[in-house]
Amino acid sequence: MSEYRINTKCVQGGYRPGNGEPRQVPIIQSTTFKYDTSEDMGKLFDLEASGYFYTRLQNPTNDFVANKIAELEGGTAAMLTSSGQAANFFALFNVCENGGHIVCSSSIYGGTFNLIAVTMPKMGIEVTFVSPDATEEELNAAFRPNTRAVFGETIANPALTVLDIELFAKVAHEHGVPFIIDNTFATPVHCRPIEWGADIVTHSTTKYMDGHGAGVGGCIVDAGKFDWMAHKDKFPGLCTPDDSYHGITYAEKFGKEGAFITKCTAQLMRDLGSIQSPQNAFYLNLGLESLHVRMKRHAENGQAVAEFLAKRPEVKTVTYSGLPSDKYYKVAQKYLPEGGCGVVSFELNGGREAAEKFMKGLKLIAIETHVADARSCCLNPATSTHRQLTDKQLEEAGIPAGLVRLSCGLEDSRDLIEDLEQAFANLK
Ligand SMILES: *Cc1c(COP(=O)(O)O)cnc(C)c1O
Repeated sequence: MSEYRINTKCVQGGYRPGNGEPRQVPIIQSTTFKYDTSEDMGKLFDLEASGYFYTRLQNPTNDFVANKIAELEGGTAAMLTSSGQAANFFALFNVCENGGHIVCSSSIYGGTFNLIAVTMPKMGIEVTFVSPDATEEELNAAFRPNTRAVFGETIANPALTVLDIELFAKVAHEHGVPFIIDNTFATPVHCRPIEWGADIVTHSTTKYMDGHGAGVGGCIVDAGKFDWMAHKDKFPGLCTPDDSYHGITYAEKFGKEGAFITKCTAQLMRDLGSIQSPQNAFYLNLGLESLHVRMKRHAENGQAVAEFLAKRPEVKTVTYSGLPSDKYYKVAQKYLPEGGCGVVSFELNGGREAAEKFMKGLKLIAIETHVADARSCCLNPATSTHRQLTDKQLEEAGIPAGLVRLSCGLEDSRDLIEDLEQAFANLK
């Protein structure tokens, strides 16, 4: 599939049926797989042969869909997980164990922030947060001898900062560690971080990839470029024998292209069990088949709505990297030349009260905690996800009380703008 363009890969990547086989990805709704001899099965358990034996580790439907995402991102191997949270945890824990340390952009999804700032420290993994706008010098200063990975988001949810991927990757490599990036909001249609030096790409497929709010899921893709054996002392899990697999050394047996995902599947999925159901993988693939068409419309709607909002007297500020006035406009021109995503945030004059009244007036755009699907929705963090904070605390967290996060769906942008217009009129 590498010879085809991304639009074609969205439609036909991953699954290539043979003569007389189903045209659509088959849903292999089976927990187990049958073998003629225990010797055959033994080879699978020893990782001597590839094949399926239990769906907690691997399932053919999942693999078809994971392979499509690997092709979209330009990676060598991929796996699906039950959620985006599982994808980020597995990607990090695969290289960073008790005693390790992560350098992480502070502008990331709230769930990932909790995972890295609260839960992983309980496993003996420390973190240093850096600004997404950190200079090379500031990034270098965050490293320690026990640093095992650098983490960030292409377009951060919900702050909408855009990361300088090349810089983060370069600094990670100078310190001999991989750069792991969550590419959920951009999707490979609008940004392929591997082309800019990223080593591992993660996704919450729950968002644009599924795109219809149908199923929770995640994905991990390996670029297949990081030389684990060159940094043997840092990554014993990949570079020394695994006793639970008869002494296999992943980096030796599966090379740069396969070691990361094989270990992540054989160890973490086996032991922690966060597999995506084959049924959800099927829904995910239906979403992927139109991802290139939908992302274009999401970004067009985001741009049109951001431009409309920027002209309204009721609006104090608009955050959208497609606006020339945006702090990340230049970075976005480099990494997202064909557009970003459909999520726009804006602050209303009049704070919490104005935001509540404004949102109450919306007819087409619904109030939801979700983002990034076909139907437009919005949220006021001050009265929902962050309601425990005072106005002063909100201001300090960079989430002013009057902030509205708006996820532009696939509707006609003129209808979205008219809905916003009538809600503004309602404020008076
Ligand atoms: C939603 C989200 C996640 C978490 O994904 P789930 O599928 O909800 O577990 C991780 N990263 C980003 C950027 C997200 O938007």
